[in-house]
Amino acid sequence: MKPEFWFVVGSQFLYGPEVLETVEARARKMAEELTKVLPYPLVYKVTAKTNREITDIIKEANYRDDCCGVITWCHTFSPSKMWIDGLRDLQKPWCHLATQYNKEIPNDEIDMDFMNLNQAAHGDREHGFIGARLRKPRKVIAGYWKDGAVHKRLGDWMKAAIGVAVSKNMKVMRFGDNMREVAVTEGDKVEAQIKLGWQVNTWAVGDLVKEMNAVTEREVEALMGEYEAAYDIATDNIAAIRYQAKEEIAIRRMMDREGCRAFSNTFQDLYGMEQLPGLASQHLMSLGYGYGGEGDWKVSALTAILKAMGENGNGSSAFMEDYTYHLVEGSEYSLGAHMLEVCPSLAADKPRIETHHLGIGMNEKDPARLVFEGKAGPAIVVSIIDMGGRLRLIVQDIECVKPIMPMPKLPVARVMWRSMPDLATGVECWIMAGGAHHTVLSYDVSAEMLHDWAKMMDIEFVHITKDTVPEKLEEELMVKDLIFKLK
Ligand code: MN
Repeated sequence: MKPEFWFVVGSQFLYGPEVLETVEARARKMAEELTKVLPYPLVYKVTAKTNREITDIIKEANYRDDCCGVITWCHTFSPSKMWIDGLRDLQKPWCHLATQYNKEIPNDEIDMDFMNLNQAAHGDREHGFIGARLRKPRKVIAGYWKDGAVHKRLGDWMKAAIGVAVSKNMKVMRFGDNMREVAVTEGDKVEAQIKLGWQVNTWAVGDLVKEMNAVTEREVEALMGEYEAAYDIATDNIAAIRYQAKEEIAIRRMMDREGCRAFSNTFQDLYGMEQLPGLASQHLMSLGYGYGGEGDWKVSALTAILKAMGENGNGSSAFMEDYTYHLVEGSEYSLGAHMLEVCPSLAADKPRIETHHLGIGMNEKDPARLVFEGKAGPAIVVSIIDMGGRLRLIVQDIECVKPIMPMPKLPVARVMWRSMPDLATGVECWIMAGGAHHTVLSYDVSAEMLHDWAKMMDIEFVHITKDTVPEKLEEELMVKDLIFKLK
C-alpha cells in the first residue's frame, strides 16, 4: 500500500462555472506543488458543491486503505450544512488547511470579483464552525500554503495520520506473559483493540524454538553479513552472535507470517532458548519492528507506531527504560538503557557487538548485544498507560546529552538526558501522571504529532514541558479524569 492524502476543496454553485473552473485549476496546482515538499502525496479530488459530492468522496476515503487522511480547504464560501453528513461519517484523520491562494491583496486590481473568488477568510470560518459543532477531532493549520512552516506542520500532521493507519493495523506477537506482579505493563487488550486497533495475541516460546531449529546455516550466514556491515564486532564469541541471528530470523519469520509489526518477550520465559534475544531484538527494531521487554505489549506497539511516524517511515525511535539518576547539583541527568534491547537508530556512532554475562533471567549463555551511546539533542519520551476505562498518553520533553562519563563496565547501550522542566520537577510530574518506567524515546517524532495522534485515537494526552508546573498538572489530571468519566 502506498499511502496518500486527499485534497477536498469546498465551494458552491453560486459563483458560476468560470469561478469554479479557476478554483479547481488552482486546487489541482496546489496539490501538485505541495506533493513536492510533503512526505506523502496530496491528491486533489474534488471541488465540492453539494451534499452528495461530499458524502461520496468521504465514503470513498473511508473505504480506500491507501487514503490515510483528508485535507479540506475552502477557496470560496462553502455553506457547511452540506458538509454535515460527510463529516459525520468520516473515519479518516481530518486536517483543515486554512490558507489562501494568493499571498498579497493586489492593491491596484482588487474589486468585488476578486473578493468573491478569494474569500477563504470567511469560507474557512464557516467550515471551522461545522467541525466545532460536530465535535469532530481535527487539525487546523493556518498560514500561506507556500510557506516552509506550513509545509512542516502539514508534513508532521501527515506523519501523525500515518501513525493512525499503522495503529489500526497493528498486530503484536507476545512470547510469554507479563513479568510477574508488574502493574504498569498490564492493560486491557480488548479496550486497546477498540480504541487503537491493536490485535494483541500470544504465541508459545516452544513454537519459536521450533522455528529457530528450522533456520539454515546459509540464512544465518546472510544475516551475519548484514551485522558485519552495520556494526563493529567486538567479541570473539561468534557462536553467540550466530545464535542471535538464528533468533532474529525465527522471530521475524513468525511475525511476518502473522502480519505482526511488533513483539514482546520476557526473560522469565525463555524455555528452550540459550540467550535472551538482545542483538536480535535490536536489529529487528532497526528494521521498524516494535519491541517491549517483560511482556510490555503496549510499549512494543507504541514503538512500532512512532518508528512509522518518523523520518522515511522508520525513524529514530526506540524502546527505552529509565534506569538510574545522576543527582549532582547543576548536572542532573537520567540514564536510560535496558537489559539488552535498545534500538541502534538512537546511536551516535557505529554500535559494537559485545557478549557479556546476563545475571537476570534464565540465560544459559552470554547474550550478544549492541553497545553504543545515544545521540545528543532534543527528544521526547512517551508512555501509554491503562487508567482503567481509558488510556492515557504521556509525553515529556527531554534534552539528550553525550553521556557525561564513559562507564566502561556498563555492558549495554545507554542514553543520558535531562527531563523538562528540570530533573526533579520532571520526575515529580511523570510520577504524578503515572508514567511507566518503559517508554518510547524519539528524536524525530514531536509532541505536537503525538497530540494529534491522541486526538485522532480519542485517548487522553498529557504533555510535560519546560513550562509545566506540578500544581497545574495535578489540576489538569483531575479535570481530565472528570471529562473521561463523562465521555
Ligand atoms: Mn524493562
